[in-house]
Amino acid sequence: MKKIYLDHGATTAVDSEVLQKMLPYFSDVFGNGSSQHFFGREALAAIDTAREDVAKALNCKSSEIYFVSGGSEADNMAIKGYALAHKDKGNHIITSKIEHPAVLETCRKLEKYGFEVTYLDVDKEGFVTPQALKAAIKDTTILITIMMVNNEIGTIEPIKELASIAKEHKIAFHTDAVQAVGNIPVDIQDLGVDMLSLSAHKFYGPKGVGVLYKKNGVRIQRFLDGGEQERNLRASTLNTPGIVGCAEALKKAIKNMDENNKKTQAVRDHFVERVIKEIPHIYYNGPKDVTKRIPGNSDFSFIGIEGEGILFHLDINGIAVSSGSACSSGSLDPSHVLLAIGIPMEVAHGSIRFSFGKENTIEDADYTVDVLKKTVEQLRAMSPIYEELLKELGNV
Ligand SMILES: *Cc1c(COP(=O)(O)O)cnc(C)c1O
Repeated sequence: MKKIYLDHGATTAVDSEVLQKMLPYFSDVFGNGSSQHFFGREALAAIDTAREDVAKALNCKSSEIYFVSGGSEADNMAIKGYALAHKDKGNHIITSKIEHPAVLETCRKLEKYGFEVTYLDVDKEGFVTPQALKAAIKDTTILITIMMVNNEIGTIEPIKELASIAKEHKIAFHTDAVQAVGNIPVDIQDLGVDMLSLSAHKFYGPKGVGVLYKKNGVRIQRFLDGGEQERNLRASTLNTPGIVGCAEALKKAIKNMDENNKKTQAVRDHFVERVIKEIPHIYYNGPKDVTKRIPGNSDFSFIGIEGEGILFHLDINGIAVSSGSACSSGSLDPSHVLLAIGIPMEVAHGSIRFSFGKENTIEDADYTVDVLKKTVEQLRAMSPIYEELLKELGNV
């Protein structure tokens, strides 16, 4: 059976060259990077090199790179760490309605601790507007956290502009760049952010490792108590193979970015074009301007049917996709992102994200459209609400 992976927004396979670079650090160079003997020094040397490589790739200093367990932890560490270290200055945080749960749930937790959070509306394509951000700023605002790229609809937010507004008001700015790093250029000096999160498994690196960039001089509370690793901000023995893999994957993703993006975008565009032409009564969610959307992302709502039904049919035909957000799969609530961009609740239920990667081909896209067309037809023929919804929504 065919096996086509169109869920790169959820995770990617470790690149084989990256894996080779990681292997010696499991049992050959196994020392604890904090140990004072040869074994430890050897591991620490690899970690230092990885830290310098990551800093160079992002255009920042190696002293500003903190290795953590992934994107979720980097988001938690940045937001909770900053809020708790500055609660004497103010208790207001600004974020958006379309953030990843790692940011949204962190903000909700802070509300329970007495912080006040503004969740900004976005426009129909998922953009946070500079005007909306300006209007939300108060005297008590201490932190703004807006994602660089949305994980469901691929929207590339105007982070440089948003961060400059924060700077004008002397408010710290964090961005969850997990879907950006490795997919589009990320230059920290150019963006002007104070903190940034990334995760290796989204760019063909290993799972369970990520980075928090924190500008020198920006104060946060330590996140994991215990040893003095990561300049005393995060205890826990450093994950040498993961850190080496993260740096290798990042270097490779940046080196091959133009070439990979050209190919991935061509496959994605071909897929999108065919779906729009051949399947009636759908919404193509997210930016229509390809320069404002990451190259591999596409997201559709199919009126009158359930995303889970489509996912199931594609799955038994060897195609892996995601319905709504993988992070809330199992829950019956439609995606908070699609609701925030104004997709009606009944329509949002019938949504699928197809996220392409560097190994996907035009043939993968064609096979998927062929299966999808049949699936949508069959499910609509059985749908008790399809005809009624069409009347209600007008001709979409
Ligand atoms: C995947 C993802 C995360 C979580 O990263 P993990 O390394 O899986 O914890 C956070 N934010 C965004 C936008 C993501 O896509």
